[in-house]
Amino acid sequence: MSTTQTQTSVLRCSICHKEIPHNKALTVESKEYAYHFCGQGCFVEWEQKNPDSNPPPPPEQ
Ligand SMILES: [Zn+2]
Repeated sequence: MSTTQTQTSVLRCSICHKEIPHNKALTVESKEYAYHFCGQGCFVEWEQKNPDSNPPPPPEQ
């Protein structure tokens, strides 16, 4: 059997729980946990809900 299929690792947005392709996700790593977001909108929403998290600024588009 051929096992050449690419492993598609899919993440889930921490805000809207939408599935995000690994290479499209915005990731914020806090002390013990990594959060993933489908885009700037959800990232900002999470940031507003977690003012103490102090994540690094997201990459500019
Ligand atoms: Zn989202």
